[in-house]
Amino acid sequence: MQELAALIRAVPDFPTPGVLFRDVAPLLADAAAFARCIDALAEPWRASGVQAICGIEARGFIFGAALAQELHAGFVPLRKPNKLPPPVVAVDYQLEYGSDRLEAQNEALKPGERVLLVDDVLATGGTLAAAASLVDRLHAELIGASVVIELVAARGRTRWQGSKPLHSLLRY
Ligand code: 5GP
Repeated sequence: MQELAALIRAVPDFPTPGVLFRDVAPLLADAAAFARCIDALAEPWRASGVQAICGIEARGFIFGAALAQELHAGFVPLRKPNKLPPPVVAVDYQLEYGSDRLEAQNEALKPGERVLLVDDVLATGGTLAAAASLVDRLHAELIGASVVIELVAARGRTRWQGSKPLHSLLRY
């Protein structure tokens, strides 16, 4: 994991003053590191029977789609408001300042389908919790989640449903 960590850029005061943003772009641009990252993300789920990967807009699409290929699963985008054609289901969630919304198409997941959530970063956990609610609303079966980076101080893991595995490759 050291070689992956070396390709995460820490950007002070982005997108707002006081925030230290973890930029995954250099990792994505490195063919060997990106492949290694997808392999490591896939590892815990190879025998899981996962049928669909839900990737969270926007960087969750990149890791999620590559992981779906690796695990021979379908890919379903969970999107920011007003991007998907109707009918959609939506879940509102709180950010540190304000709120946001995630949407999925009504028939994006089949009832009982085994679903894995994927995103680049876990911070406060609000986004991942909203994604889990969407899976629930579509009556699919959430088997767990994987993120590339867990920002431990933001304590997102405490908002995650305890019974399902939540894997992170790099922790800061
Ligand atoms: P949370 O809802 O857990 O507070 O925030 C996670 C969401 O915000 C993820 O979708 C992630 O893409 C984005 N995010 C928050 N902090 C960072 C960061 O430092 N780097 C990147 N790449 N994304 C972040």
